[in-house]
Amino acid sequence: MSISTSVLSDLLKSLPYLRSQLYFKASLTALSHAMEDQVLAGTLAQPLVIASFQRERFYRQEAHRYQRLALRSNQVYVLSAPETDFTNFTNSSEHYERVAFEPNDGLSQEWHLIVIADNYATCLVCRESLGSIAKNRQLPELSPNLDIDAARRFEGIWTSERGVSLKAAELLLDRVLVYRPELASKIEEGCQRFGIKEPRSYSGAEQINEYACDIDTDPFVQRLLTYLQASQYKLHKAYRSIAAQARKERLVNTISTAIRRSLDPHEVLQVAAQELGQHLEACRCLIYRAQATDSQAIMEHEFLTPGVLSVRGQTWELEKNSLFQDIVEQGEGVCVSDTLIDPRVTDSPGLSLIAKKFAIRSWLMEPVFYQGRLLGIVELHYCRIPPHECQPGELDLVKAIATQMGAALIQAEAYANLEELNQQLEALDRTRSNLIAITGHELRTPLSTIQVCLESLASEPDMPLELQQVMLNTALSDSERMRKLVQDFLTLSNLESGRVEWHPESLTLQECVDLSLSRNRTRSSTEKPPKIKTQIAQNLPLVRADGDWLVEVLAKLIDNACKFTPAQGEITIKAVQNSHQMVEVTVADTGRGIEPNRLEVVFDRFYQEEGALRRTTGGTGLGLAICRQIVNGWGGEIWAESTGKDQGSQFHFTIPIVQSSHEEKRTKVKSK
Ligand code: ADP
Repeated sequence: MSISTSVLSDLLKSLPYLRSQLYFKASLTALSHAMEDQVLAGTLAQPLVIASFQRERFYRQEAHRYQRLALRSNQVYVLSAPETDFTNFTNSSEHYERVAFEPNDGLSQEWHLIVIADNYATCLVCRESLGSIAKNRQLPELSPNLDIDAARRFEGIWTSERGVSLKAAELLLDRVLVYRPELASKIEEGCQRFGIKEPRSYSGAEQINEYACDIDTDPFVQRLLTYLQASQYKLHKAYRSIAAQARKERLVNTISTAIRRSLDPHEVLQVAAQELGQHLEACRCLIYRAQATDSQAIMEHEFLTPGVLSVRGQTWELEKNSLFQDIVEQGEGVCVSDTLIDPRVTDSPGLSLIAKKFAIRSWLMEPVFYQGRLLGIVELHYCRIPPHECQPGELDLVKAIATQMGAALIQAEAYANLEELNQQLEALDRTRSNLIAITGHELRTPLSTIQVCLESLASEPDMPLELQQVMLNTALSDSERMRKLVQDFLTLSNLESGRVEWHPESLTLQECVDLSLSRNRTRSSTEKPPKIKTQIAQNLPLVRADGDWLVEVLAKLIDNACKFTPAQGEITIKAVQNSHQMVEVTVADTGRGIEPNRLEVVFDRFYQEEGALRRTTGGTGLGLAICRQIVNGWGGEIWAESTGKDQGSQFHFTIPIVQSSHEEKRTKVKSK
């Protein structure tokens, strides 16, 4: 039963002088509403109204208006194709005549509204242009904020020419008859009343009179204007939001490009602070690292507008920062529009002070999370008056940037870990090479000597006794060197891995110095050592340390001083109490000295100035590394001083002094 032809085509065929025009759906809605309002305003007596909707969903949006329209006339016909989702539209005569046409009827592509009264006629006969629907389906993805439906396009006629309106009414009423034949007499009545189907001749000349109408068209014009304004406003809003969206995308792009381009996290975070601050017109934008349990944070990256005080490098307390704690608890950013009245700031002396000192009037803090872990904070400060009201779009943007920052901070963390790991690997590699060199020189050389000596002793029984003695002494001293190396190596690994048990006791320094000197004398019995002086301050308090290890440190330093000082030189051992409740011991010599840039590395494992292979003085290169581990073990420090080559060296280290019971009590109270 469905009719595939188009009412618009039929009309244009009947009245060839008509020229169809293009209309957007928004315009058709405005026109239709204005035409309907003309009827609702009650200026037309019992008009004929025919409205044809493409689909039931469009009809439903207007259904209530047609109920009100039906109160003004009994000649109201509403046509629509029923839809399965909206199963209400059926042929019926309740309120007005409803005509359900087949979904594949030509009418389903068209939009018609005809209003004919005795002294007024207007009609809208349009067809949706081909491709308009398909195009509109793709567009929303490109610009989700634009009301794309409003941009659907139609072509057709809108006119107040009576003859055209009568012809259009005739064509539509014919369709109604097809679907609702029982309405024949009602339709006939309408046709007679308004002169529909009466033979007429149409030409341009006759049109003029037919426009004449003596009714008030104000409601129509008013309504049309309101619709125009509304759609203009919608358009303006849509463009604004598209522009904002584009700006946001540009910003996110700039930052993600910076993340991809640079491996240096500081650069990335600085770019982000700069771009975000500029984009949101903040006076100050900060990005810094902070974890949920941190008590402080250093303000690392900053964007500033001219004339605003910098906070870069400052350390801010986080424990008592209620804004930060809110973020940690709720996992969401905070926005303080006015720091002068927001109780989160006014009730916190710390925050009020910061706000005042750095002129922060509005304060926005957004957390940077990565997989649920807080990594940092993005802060925006507005110092101007009036206070800045945070807009939802701004918050979205800050959130989007914070998400990008999550990746950047993780990259920073990984980068730092990698750097540290690299350094550790380099150190390990150095140790390994040194170990190989040491094994080569320190272990293999004496081992070969021992082997040669023992082989000679075994293969030549006639060897003179004196030579035998030399062989034996050489083998013995070389095995002693090997023992020392193995022992030092084990000592250092024990100290480094914390496997050493400390036995702190109260000691007189003089006794420890004496012990280490006597140990030194027994060791270097073959060579004549330089002169050793001691200058231990009188009344020196007792020191608290593990006696064996203290003697070990002293012995090693004295041993080094002897090794690197010629026999005619001098070694001095001094001890004084310093201002930090410590005894400072110095082992100074007049020997070969140390270059200033080597003063720290001499404490590295296996460091030896001449390299392991060219060493003449013996030693393992582990002595000072062992000393540092021991001294640090009791909470002291050790360092070297020298003005350079052949200027002598001074090795200093500190030991805590024994506190009198009275002092001990006082310290305990203080630390509580
Ligand atoms: P070593 O067993 O080689 O003495 P140490 O760790 O004790 O190992 O010392 C490391 C290096 O520091 C020495 O090889 C030497 O180059 C330098 N050094 C240590 N003490 C002195 C000193 N008193 N005068 C000059 N150089 C020193």
